[in-house]
Amino acid sequence: MKDMNQTIDVIIVGTGAAGIFCALNLPDTLSIHMVTKDSLENSASYLAQGGIAALRDASDYDDYFEDTLRAGHYKNSRKAVDTMIRQSPLIIRELLDYHVRFNRTGDELSYTKEGGHSQSRILHHNDITGKEITSKLLNGLRKKSNIIIEEYTRMVDIVVRDGQCIGIVTIDKTGAPKVLFAKAVVLATGGIGGLFKHSTAFSHITGDALAVAVKHNVKLRDVNYIQIHPTALYSEKPGRRFLISEAVRGEGAYLLNAAMERFTDELQPRDVVSDAIHEQMIKDGRGYVYLSLTHLPAEMIITRFPNIYQHCLKAGYDLTKEPIPVTPAQHYFMGGIKVDLKGQTSMPYLYAIGETSCTGVHGKNRLGSNSLLESLVFAQRAASDITQNIPYRPTEQPEIDLSIYQDKDFDLEYKNIVLDEIKRRDPKFYEEWCNDNSQMG
Ligand SMILES: Cc1cc2nc3c(=O)[nH]c(=O)nc-3n(C[C@H](O)[C@H](O)[C@H](O)COP(=O)(O)OP(=O)(O)OC[C@H]3O[C@@H](n4cnc5c(N)ncnc54)[C@H](O)[C@@H]3O)c2cc1C
Repeated sequence: MKDMNQTIDVIIVGTGAAGIFCALNLPDTLSIHMVTKDSLENSASYLAQGGIAALRDASDYDDYFEDTLRAGHYKNSRKAVDTMIRQSPLIIRELLDYHVRFNRTGDELSYTKEGGHSQSRILHHNDITGKEITSKLLNGLRKKSNIIIEEYTRMVDIVVRDGQCIGIVTIDKTGAPKVLFAKAVVLATGGIGGLFKHSTAFSHITGDALAVAVKHNVKLRDVNYIQIHPTALYSEKPGRRFLISEAVRGEGAYLLNAAMERFTDELQPRDVVSDAIHEQMIKDGRGYVYLSLTHLPAEMIITRFPNIYQHCLKAGYDLTKEPIPVTPAQHYFMGGIKVDLKGQTSMPYLYAIGETSCTGVHGKNRLGSNSLLESLVFAQRAASDITQNIPYRPTEQPEIDLSIYQDKDFDLEYKNIVLDEIKRRDPKFYEEWCNDNSQMG
C-alpha cells in the first residue's frame, strides 16, 4: 500500500497546552496539521488543578530560581530554568489576552503559595486552572483557518530521510495507516502515565513519542526522572486515578496500615512518603494503605476539601466517617526527548515540547505548578524557531510502504520500548514502580 500526500508546513502531534500554544504562535501563513490520539479535551493539561507559577516581579527571581533547583535536587539545567522564569510574565500577559480568568482580589491578580514555593507566585482559576487555560487557548485555535485538527488519530511513527524528519505516519479509528509529509514535526504527546497501573493522567497518554524516538535513535534525557504522587484514591478499575492532594496530609490526615496503625511521618517529601507506602503495601500484601481524616472535624473536611469530599462520596467513601484506600500513582514525567531551548531534538526538523520533551528544567523532581508554564514557554520558543527556519525548506515525498503499520499491536511494542529504557537507566526505580510484578505494574 502506498500513500501520496501534500506537504504540510508544520505537523503538531498532541492537543494539550504545549501543542495548542505552539500552533497559536505560528504565523497564519503556514499550513498546520494537528493530530490527537483521543478527543481534543482529553489531555493532562485539562486536568491541572493547582495553577501556573510565574515571576511576580524582579525581586522574586532569586527565590523562584532557588525553589525550582531545590525541588529538582539541583539536577536542573540552570539555563532552562532561567529561560522559563524570565519568559513567565510574558506568557501570563498572553494568557490574559486569550481571556483566561485567573482569580483576583479586587482588580489585582491573586497569587497563592504551594509546597516548595517560598513566595506566593501561583496564579489559578479555582481548582480547575488547566481546564480554564486550555479551553481558552482552544477557542483561539478554532478561529484559525490555517489549522486542521484530526481527533482520534494516533501518530505511530515519524518518516525519516537522510537523517532528517520529513513527516509522520498515523492510524485513525478505522485502523488505516496514513502518511503526512511536513517541513517540521512537533511532538507534544505529553507524559507516560498510561504505562502505569496507577496514574493521575489519562490512560491513552503512553509516551508514544518516546518509543518512536528510541526507534530512530533520537536522544532522550533523564527518562528515570518520574514523579510518583504518594496518594491517589485506590481503585481496581482501569483508567486514571483521582489525586488526593498533599494539602490533605498538610491538614493532619494520617496514613494507616492494614492494622490501622500509623507507619510513617505523613509530612515528609513526596518521594520519601511514596517509598514508605510502597514498603508498607508489600508488608500488608495489598495494593493500598489507608488515609484517615476521621479524627478531624467533619465541617473542616467538607469546607476545606469540597471536591475531594464529593469525589470520594461518589466512589462510596465518606471522608468524615471512614478511612479511604490510597496508593502511590505516577503523576509527572520530568525526563523525555532531549531538546535544546528552542525545542529542537537531536534530529533535524523534529521538535519536542511539553511533558514529552526534556529541557532539564525540572531536574529530578518538578516544583508544583511549573509544568504548565514550561509547556507554554518552550512551545512558544519552538514556534519562533520553526517560523525562522522552515518556510523555505525544500520538501520531498518519497513512496512509503504503509503495509508494515497494519494490524500491529503498538500498545505493547511501545510500552516495552519505553519501560526497557527506564529499566536500563534505573533498574531500582523500574523494580519498585514499573515492574509488572510490583504492586504498581
Ligand atoms: C491530575 C493532574 C494535575 C496537574 N496539576 C498541575 C498543576 O496544577 N499545575 C501544573 O503546572 N501542572 C499540573 N499538572 C501537569 C500538567 O498538566 C502537564 O504536565 C502539562 O499540561 C503537559 O502538557 P502537554 O501539552 O505536554 O501534554 P498533555 O496535556 O498531556 O497533552 C498530550 C496530548 O498528546 C496527545 N497524544 C499522546 N500520544 C499521541 C499520539 N501517539 N498521537 C497523537 N496524539 C497523541 C494526547 O491525546 C494529548 O492531546 C497536572 C497533571 C495532572 C495529571
